Amino acid sequence: MPQKRIHAFGGGKAEGNKDMKDVLGGKGAGLAEMSNIGIPVPPGFTITTEVCSEYFHGGNKLPRALDPELRRALEKVEALTGKGFGDGGNPLLVSVRSGARVSMPGMMDTVLNLGLNDATVEGLAASARDPRFAWDSYRRFVAMFGDVVLGMKPERKEDRDPFEEILDAKKHARGVRHDSELPVDALRELVLEFKAEIRRRKGIAFPDDPMEQLREAIAAVFRSWENDRAIAYRRMNGIPAEWGTAVTVQSMVFGNLGEDSGTGVAFTRNPANGTDEFYGEFLVNAQGEDVVAGIRTPQKIADLAARWPEVATQLEDVRSRLERHYRDMQDIEFTIERGHLFVLQTRSGKRTGLAAVRIAVAMADARLITREEAVLRVEPEALNHLLRPVFDLDRKAAAVKGGKLLARGLPAGPGAASGRLVFFAEDAEAWRARGETVLLARHETSPEDIRGMAAAEGFLTAFGGMTSHAALVARQMGKVAIVGCEALRFDYHARKMIVPTPSGERTISEGAWISIDGTAGEVIEGQLETRPSEVVEVLVERSRDAKSAPVYQEFAKLLSWADQARRLKVRANADQPDQAATAVAFGAQGIGLCRTEHMFFGEGKIGPMREMIVADNEEDRRAALARLLPLQREDFRGLFVAMAGRPVTIRTLDPPLHEFLPHDEAGVAELARATGKSVEQIRERVQELGESNPMLGHRGCRLGISYPEITEMQARAIFEAAVDALEAGSKVEPEVMIPLVGARKELEDQAAVVRRVADEVFVERGKKVRYLVGTMIEVPRGALTAGEIARTAEFFSFGTNDLTQTTFGLSRDDTGPVLKTYLEKDIYPVDPFVSIDREGVGALMQIAAAAGRMVRPGMKLGICGEHGGDPASVGFCHEIGLDYVSCSPYRLPIARLAAAQASLREAAKEKPVRNGKRPGVNGVARAPKKVARSRRARARA
Ligand code: ADP
Ligand code: MG
Ligand code: MG
Repeated sequence: MPQKRIHAFGGGKAEGNKDMKDVLGGKGAGLAEMSNIGIPVPPGFTITTEVCSEYFHGGNKLPRALDPELRRALEKVEALTGKGFGDGGNPLLVSVRSGARVSMPGMMDTVLNLGLNDATVEGLAASARDPRFAWDSYRRFVAMFGDVVLGMKPERKEDRDPFEEILDAKKHARGVRHDSELPVDALRELVLEFKAEIRRRKGIAFPDDPMEQLREAIAAVFRSWENDRAIAYRRMNGIPAEWGTAVTVQSMVFGNLGEDSGTGVAFTRNPANGTDEFYGEFLVNAQGEDVVAGIRTPQKIADLAARWPEVATQLEDVRSRLERHYRDMQDIEFTIERGHLFVLQTRSGKRTGLAAVRIAVAMADARLITREEAVLRVEPEALNHLLRPVFDLDRKAAAVKGGKLLARGLPAGPGAASGRLVFFAEDAEAWRARGETVLLARHETSPEDIRGMAAAEGFLTAFGGMTSHAALVARQMGKVAIVGCEALRFDYHARKMIVPTPSGERTISEGAWISIDGTAGEVIEGQLETRPSEVVEVLVERSRDAKSAPVYQEFAKLLSWADQARRLKVRANADQPDQAATAVAFGAQGIGLCRTEHMFFGEGKIGPMREMIVADNEEDRRAALARLLPLQREDFRGLFVAMAGRPVTIRTLDPPLHEFLPHDEAGVAELARATGKSVEQIRERVQELGESNPMLGHRGCRLGISYPEITEMQARAIFEAAVDALEAGSKVEPEVMIPLVGARKELEDQAAVVRRVADEVFVERGKKVRYLVGTMIEVPRGALTAGEIARTAEFFSFGTNDLTQTTFGLSRDDTGPVLKTYLEKDIYPVDPFVSIDREGVGALMQIAAAAGRMVRPGMKLGICGEHGGDPASVGFCHEIGLDYVSCSPYRLPIARLAAAQASLREAAKEKPVRNGKRPGVNGVARAPKKVARSRRARARA
């Protein structure tokens, strides 16, 4: 049984405070806190979330013990306002408001003007000296009570609110268009008709007793915790059902008492771009909901001063006090009653990524918060917003309004892109080559589309989820993408895309302009202008000077603070010198994964690669490999130079060979021509290499073990390139990584080849390069026997994409239908290909990390799966002591921030809050030293 069911606030003090969100809800805690610090708040009280549990556990009944407490609390409010609840002379009216621990805007219900009946309405009319206002409030209250408390709100979209219907009929009968034109006697009639409607539909009388009204309204607000909207919202945002809502009962203030009254909502800073300006809207002579309802066009906060200079000054003071007090941007509701300002709500305001960065940096610079807090304030994922090309918002809204919205899909690659539609990767390349801007739309994409994808501004697929090939490539390349846009149908032969829209089926042909908003997941017909983000202009395109780029400067500042706080290093997954350069610009401290197979799709390489694959004997194979050698060497040299001495991890050939072979007639014919074989022979070879489950077949180190000459060629390319780069004055640190190792002997076999070739090259060239040979841990057997493998491996890199596939026994390319159901049914909490499954995959990683370091103290450990760019997974990698995470270049800023947050959270846990202050940078910087010390200790042991 709860100790105290009701906490009062008002009159410059309160029984609660801002840290009591669990019991008072966000709204109640905010009102209590504002009372405590002397912000004008209409007095009231909050009934705790525990009473909500009591209500549900007691079979939807309010506990009896609540009644006396309720009366006592009302007395306090009466004393503070000088009004009486149910008093026919000078009535106290209240609102009954919902409020959960975290804000669930608009999900639950609120009742306003409670306490009105046939007697009190006269008192209100007299005290306000405005009968029209009193009767207008009364009819609003009866309708709201009917809707919210008695459940008369329409359930289905096509149904109308019964009170609205009666109101419309009344306006029609009186020949007026607006509610405000109805005279008092019409409003009186409405009250009677509303009450009659309640009796007709519900068979009960509208309760005249204010106490009964109050009890029923409180119960209704508790019940609204279980309405469909609230349940759906909770599910989407991971809010536990047990939390329940608090109920705040608060004396009413009226913004609709004439031209000297009004109501508004405001943010203490601009929530879209973070500018330090008071940002919001207000309406003159209006009540709470009217601003949001959008019936009248509100005025800007900036115009408030012209109308009410004193109120404006007061509000400005509230703004700065709330910000200083909460040390964060606030979102407030306020009402002005006959020239007096009241604040009705305050909470941390939701903001875009751009605004989040701006606000955090500005507040730290103003010493309102520490730099560590600034780093903790920004959701890592929000940084995406600063990297993507942008649409002009007004133009987009106009296009949508003009019926140009074609379809919606999953926002896989945030940002904005416009281009001419193509359906084939080759076309994307060809069109691009002649100077066109293109968008590639396909049912789905595959590795052989990679060059076309690079040529396109963005891509659009009908199939696949957030981890599909298209989504993955979008992240790696920083492209805009919408995937899983199920409404799209393709007619590749006719080169058309068919889209059902509300106004009928639309056919979009090749070459037509379309625009995709990868942040919102919206496909729009026509060309919308975009431009690169400022950060990209400075870092990647180098077309803008950092000095004239304020957004970039803030971004860089925040990340420099993050870099001071983090222990984890960050590396990039990059295959080409230009990607490496981008990675370095985004802060890469090395390359964690160079997928050599991507190189084979490059200019002039796929030919010899295919010849190598179809060769029937070692000699032919070696001849083809000899042609690939200089091409690979050149790629590697470029990478080494771009990385300027930072470690570069190169993985030997990984995918099954058939992925490189042509599957279409023309491709087969061409390969036959090039190799002097018959079309049949080529077809046979393609057939022969086909596998029923390529994910578990002849791939990874198995290829190098079957065809050591492939590994030989790759090792030679790596070491020759390393010596070349060294001779050109660049430092190099190659790390050769053997994929898919499950048994130590596999690695020994391949490591021996690599080391032999290294020695040969060093002798030939008369120069030595320091290098490491290690392995990916990406099958459970590899993780479980990691101690054994570590006798040969000099480093481990967790390939968590494959480790997740093989641990779950679930192919990543076939997750679509499975995951959809599993996530809906809550069987998996999150998509394990997006965020590391700590319990399963994570456990294997921990086993492998511990075993590896036991055998080889201080062994270098990293992760190169897509998870390396997922903030939650980065946190996990920090916790289990990895040295680095590696991710796509465009996700590096996110990884840096996530790594910093993991360090800061750990430090906060280790070092309890002292003097009310959180540990500073110095406190945090100790974390890495401690790790280093324990590692040395292990080394001594
Ligand atoms: P929500 O959580 O959906 O925003 P609120 O409880 O904040 O619901 O209330 C809805 C509207 O009613 C808001 O505009 C609020 O400012 C207004 N309101 C609530 N209580 C009062 C009150 N005591 N006096 C005047 N307006 C109020
Ligand atoms: Mg509100
Ligand atoms: Mg793998």
